[in-house]
Amino acid sequence: MKFGGTSVANLERMRVAASYVKEEVDRGNEVIVIVSAMAGETNKLVETVNSVSPYFDAREYDAVVSSGENVTAGILALILQDMRIPARSWQGWQVPITTTSSHSSAQIMDIATDNLNAKFQEGLKVAVVAGFQGISQENRTTTLGRGGSDLTAVAFAAKFDCERCDIFTDVDGIYTADPRIVFKARKLNRIAYDEMLELASLGAKVLQTRSVQMAMAHQVPVYVRSSFSRKPGTLVCNEDEKMENRTISGIAHSRDEAKISIISVADRPGVAATIFGALSDKGINVDMIVQNISESGRTDITFSCPIEHAPIAKKSLLDAKKDNLANFKDIVLDLEVCKVSVVGIGMRSQSGVAAKMFAILANEGINIKVISTSEIKISVLVDRKYMELAVQALHDKFELHANRITPK
Ligand code: ADP
Ligand code: ASP
Ligand code: MG
Repeated sequence: MKFGGTSVANLERMRVAASYVKEEVDRGNEVIVIVSAMAGETNKLVETVNSVSPYFDAREYDAVVSSGENVTAGILALILQDMRIPARSWQGWQVPITTTSSHSSAQIMDIATDNLNAKFQEGLKVAVVAGFQGISQENRTTTLGRGGSDLTAVAFAAKFDCERCDIFTDVDGIYTADPRIVFKARKLNRIAYDEMLELASLGAKVLQTRSVQMAMAHQVPVYVRSSFSRKPGTLVCNEDEKMENRTISGIAHSRDEAKISIISVADRPGVAATIFGALSDKGINVDMIVQNISESGRTDITFSCPIEHAPIAKKSLLDAKKDNLANFKDIVLDLEVCKVSVVGIGMRSQSGVAAKMFAILANEGINIKVISTSEIKISVLVDRKYMELAVQALHDKFELHANRITPK
């Protein structure tokens, strides 16, 4: 059972969380509970680190930002003990959860089971584990990337062969679009791992992308539900026939994107490799890429990346030019864009989705700046000021509020 930030936001919410845990214990289950920091706490810690130095030591950043989870783990264990439930807390290093050393985006390498299992054997009913953190081979605390408690939860479920992984959050499941933007968004009873993976990686932060990858790889059934209501949630699982009947399952958006155009680069073998090599050396997460038709041996290349990567991207391109690795005329940054995507496994067998999507956006007077597609998604970059309008129009015209969805 994993409780996100809003589900452990204060003592009152933690008592509610504890009551959900108690229900499972009363059913005779042993429970591993993964907790996030209290809502807003991790952001505050990040701000504090940034205020000390924007060029921080990543190891100390992790030491600080992982601390919010330690507090909630201890307090929830105390609340459970107060309810006469045998419970204790574990921090990442105590389990231990061993990870790679890539601070702030570490990967889980292993989770030891001995310590927890020994305590369960002695009669422990609930192990409360601080999410989002682990320990590197250098014996330093690491964090798993924002939203990383989801990953901790799925990884524990896989490692301990748990019956289920329940993710308690502030919405009662996965919707056809972010319910905070689309009022008419509909809750899905089930969603395929593939679709959830696309939705998450395209901006639907209800589950961290890597947690969905892990769930898919280890076949962990993930049940997303609310700690604020008793309504049934959404099961993330393998696809079934019913799911294939719907062309589109959801709309995702990602607000803070940047579009970078490199003007007039030589159109010959090796140029793109040099440019994107320079970007990847700096760890820039390049997303969509388009290259224009070449005129007189020169062309323009446009790509998108998260907005916070844009300044470093520009600098690394200018450095590459200075070192005579890449020759281009100019770089143009557009920091006012966002990405809107439609996702659905039914797209594999249905044509016409792209045409319909572009027509809907055109009808709203929204200009498309960059397009990218995969087997089960179409993404476009549009001006940020149109984000809500684009998401709502697509949701409406693809009739996602209704139960059966077929493109006209
Ligand atoms: P937690 O703190 O519990 O981990 P998050 O804030 O990370 O919660 O994720 C829950 C949020 O995800 C919701 O409040 C909702 O605004 C957002 N969200 C985005 N897309 C979707 C979607 N398709 N379905 C449900 N929630 C979504
Ligand atoms: N507290 C961490 C964050 O805010 C991890 C999480 O909540 O999943 O990113
Ligand atoms: Mg989250």
